[in-house]
Amino acid sequence: MAIQSINPLNGKRIQTYKEETAKTVEAKIEAGHKAWLKWRGTSLEERGRLLLKAATVLQQQKHELAVLMAREMGKPLKDGVAEIEKCASVCTYYAEKGAAFLKDEKIKTEARNSFVTYQPIGVVLAVMPWNFPYWQCFRFIAPALMAGNAGLLKHASNVPGCALSIEQVLLKAGFPKGVFQTLLVGSKAVKAIIDHSLVKAVTLTGSTEAGQQVAAQAGSQIKKTVLELGGSDPYVILEDADLELAATVCAQSRLINNGQSCIAAKRFIVVKQVEREFVRLFKEKMSHKQLGDPMDATTNLGPMSRADLRDELHQQVLKNIEEGAVCILGGTIPAFKGKHAFYTPTILTNVKKGMTGYKDELFGPVACVITARNEAHAIEIANDTSFGLGAAVFTRDVKKGERIAREQLQAGACFVNTLVKSDPRVPFGGINQSGYGRELGSFGIREFVNIKTVWR
Ligand code: NAP
Repeated sequence: MAIQSINPLNGKRIQTYKEETAKTVEAKIEAGHKAWLKWRGTSLEERGRLLLKAATVLQQQKHELAVLMAREMGKPLKDGVAEIEKCASVCTYYAEKGAAFLKDEKIKTEARNSFVTYQPIGVVLAVMPWNFPYWQCFRFIAPALMAGNAGLLKHASNVPGCALSIEQVLLKAGFPKGVFQTLLVGSKAVKAIIDHSLVKAVTLTGSTEAGQQVAAQAGSQIKKTVLELGGSDPYVILEDADLELAATVCAQSRLINNGQSCIAAKRFIVVKQVEREFVRLFKEKMSHKQLGDPMDATTNLGPMSRADLRDELHQQVLKNIEEGAVCILGGTIPAFKGKHAFYTPTILTNVKKGMTGYKDELFGPVACVITARNEAHAIEIANDTSFGLGAAVFTRDVKKGERIAREQLQAGACFVNTLVKSDPRVPFGGINQSGYGRELGSFGIREFVNIKTVWR
């Protein structure tokens, strides 16, 4: 089967790639293992030095890689450049901090010497999505390689050019051949890769459905998984919120990457007293974004990454309206020329329990506004979800905001008066159907290591 990259701006094919055969995949797994046997013996200083070089290569190539993203998945150029800069920063972060995170830890016992050491485990498979085609990969690559593992990437099928370029960046930085390899395969090939005895663990960033299947397969082989899955992040706007700030941040978060971000704000839970004013301001901010060619510097919102995903989103919007939601902005496929994947920023109000927008993830520029009677009701609605990735609360009482974030909102990351974002320095991950395990920070680098006790 061929793998094709299609430009979502116009539906035109960019390139066709031959899918790798089972035999080639097997050879790459073996090459990865062979490379790992040497790589695990390198010093942390050496690994850090190569990560710093990778950061330099990324900086040097940021424009060219941003063009690749714009063409393959529609990300506006300036956002693409920012994504590559963030990838460089995560490489630098682990180059500088990795050795401290992986340092042996002495433990006082009756032994002459007892300590914990963090040892690499081997080849780790990464199954990755298209929405942040470099960032999602580098937040795995930097800690995994720093810890002395080897990586195999099965990227989303619509971004093969990005997938191949990641291997090239690392080779250019000087990582030995085989330490990180890209496999051009579809999702059907993943089962056999997980089953291979030389593949020791799997990380998947993607939908809950894909996570369920990959985790079940890995579980049948007793292989560890880290799952970064979908979310329907609630943003809670309380009665005492700064509404101008809340509306600005909410629109910014909902439209990040054209709404195609796991931690984009998706449900806007507003206390009744301030709903009318919040919605007025929110609509104003959501209307200001400029749809256009991602290669054009003035564009804020490109097309969505695939026309079929846009069509699915539109169906979800129509279903919501049928169920009783009121569309006060957008809700249409713009009449641009060609087979594009554009969707207009959309706001649905009157979203209620049981409706599509209340319970499902809407992975595109569509905001669902839900009315709450009071603070307690707003928090109850925020937590009334199968997901648990991020959440935010808006209030002028910052102490109360922190208490709600700390104790009441059930999610892996809770922010006060600002948007949920990932940062190399703090752990990232979800609870419930948003997955388990953590990436980034000191926690991320310890996911794929053997936490070994030594006692003498
Ligand atoms: P997806 O369809 O699940 O695809 C993600 C990756 O999984 C792709 O490489 C895909 O390969 C592969 N895949 C799909 N089904 C699979 C299966 N049954 N077995 C093995 N591999 C499989 O997700 P997506 O549409 O690309 O991304 C959107 C979803 O990802 C959203 O739900 C979003 O919230 C979530 N996400 C989560 C995070 C996070 O950090 N928590 C970050 C970004 C995105 P093919 O492309 O070949 O199908």
